Amino acid sequence: MTDSSREPTWVGQLEKELSSSTAKILKPGTEGYDESLKRFNGAIEKRAPAVVMVKSDEDIATTVKFAVSNEVLLVVKGGGHTISGGSSTDEGIVVDLSQMRGVQINKETREIVAQGGCLWEDVDVAAAAEGLVTVGGTVNHTGIGGLTLGGGYGYLSGLYGLTIDNLLRVKIVLADGSCLVASETENPDLFWAVRGAGRGFGVVTEFVFRAHPAPASVWAGMLGFTMDKLHALIAAFNEVAGREDPRACLSFGFATPPGSNVVMPLALPVYFGTEEESKAFFAPFFALEPTMNSTAVLPSYTAVNSLLNPMAKHGGRKNGGGSNFTLPLNADKVSDIFQDFNRFVLANQGSIEAVFIFEAWPNNKIREVSNEAMAFSNRGAYHNVATSMKWEDPALDDEFREFNRNFLKKIGREMGIDGAASGQKGEGSGIYANSATAEYTPQEIYGRNSTKLKVLKKKYDPGNIFSPAKMVSLTHM
Ligand SMILES: Cc1cc2nc3c(=O)[nH]c(=O)nc-3n(C[C@H](O)[C@H](O)[C@H](O)COP(=O)(O)OP(=O)(O)OC[C@H]3O[C@@H](n4cnc5c(N)ncnc54)[C@H](O)[C@@H]3O)c2cc1C
Repeated sequence: MTDSSREPTWVGQLEKELSSSTAKILKPGTEGYDESLKRFNGAIEKRAPAVVMVKSDEDIATTVKFAVSNEVLLVVKGGGHTISGGSSTDEGIVVDLSQMRGVQINKETREIVAQGGCLWEDVDVAAAAEGLVTVGGTVNHTGIGGLTLGGGYGYLSGLYGLTIDNLLRVKIVLADGSCLVASETENPDLFWAVRGAGRGFGVVTEFVFRAHPAPASVWAGMLGFTMDKLHALIAAFNEVAGREDPRACLSFGFATPPGSNVVMPLALPVYFGTEEESKAFFAPFFALEPTMNSTAVLPSYTAVNSLLNPMAKHGGRKNGGGSNFTLPLNADKVSDIFQDFNRFVLANQGSIEAVFIFEAWPNNKIREVSNEAMAFSNRGAYHNVATSMKWEDPALDDEFREFNRNFLKKIGREMGIDGAASGQKGEGSGIYANSATAEYTPQEIYGRNSTKLKVLKKKYDPGNIFSPAKMVSLTHM
């Protein structure tokens, strides 16, 4: 039974509008509605008056035109992994892309054609069947939509750059309901904007990625250490990360494993090579006698992107974000920041799963492209830091968010480019759009590109339908 007493009048009109389409509308009380509201971050789940399960570009165009002409707020849901709520609403329409997850592989042209609602697992598995890969997310249940439109870092970034560096073209439904192709040659200004600020410009119904031959061997796993090794670990990290080998990805940080409140130093080494090569490359870590070691040769690239899935489960209240650091890391500063993190975790015993990691992924390939080539503006001589926290009690929301905000600011200031004198900051903004919380301005995220973005936004989405004013005006996480 539907709850029509509190249903806004526009819902009935939308149903009429879509009655001869392939879309299905889910409303409170209808089967599948509650399931459709689920997000990776349970804290941002909202009860939308209408969730439109679209199946075609036409369904999307009709829904977008309806939202514009009836002034109804509209959000788009891809994989549902945004932390800050950009794919949920309690007053408008959700365009849910989860029925659009088809993938086609063109082996001759080495192209992966993926519908806008795919998860990375869909792409990884379909490409692997043809012996191909592309730069995708490291947790394979994230959506290709949000991840690609903000930039996209993956374990293959050292070899092939960002996800957007491998994006050949998109099909996109704009605010006026038209569906365009955007590429280097067709609507190139829109393609420029899509690569980094895409979610502020339309609904991407199809992504076409460049594919590469699957690596012959993938080695990866988790190494755990005791805290007394911290200074030696930082020395090992600086040595290994400083090599900038494009086949290696090294993440190092601190985490409370599920069900525990003991913070452990952890390393996640990934190497596209044999076991022998990998172990030799990461030898400085093995010399420190890890107390936990799950490294092994994996069956495929697809497997490495599911390695972190057990630590990234849906549900609970979550927060996360990003900052930056420069190499080499200073062990005393890492120790100090660890104390902040540990104090917070201990003060919230039993209610928290927390991670913060320094992602020393080689970025020479990423930096071959200039910050002006696309809207994305986070290419520079620094690396990303990421945090993730999970708790259950809604009363703790503000406390967690404030801690995370201040913690990340401190890292950027003391270990990254944020504290550097302006002349030494180099090119990138230091902020990855997909990690930026709502308080960041477009200028902070996109630097000089924000001026051009504003002009393009006026051209393609003058009514700002794709990023309501209450969120960051050009983009949101
Ligand atoms: C567990 C986890 C692991 C992550 N790992 C990585 C990683 O390895 N590399 C990396 O770069 N980032 C990573 N991220 C960050 C990730 O890129 C963002 O959270 C991203 O927003 C997720 O996209 P989504 O489609 O799943 O989310 P959604 O919440 O569905 O969407 C996010 C935003 O994109 C918009 N959007 C989604 N699809 C479309 C579309 N087709 N057309 C137009 N707009 C669309 C939505 O409206 C929303 O504003 C990770 C995040 C999490 C939570």
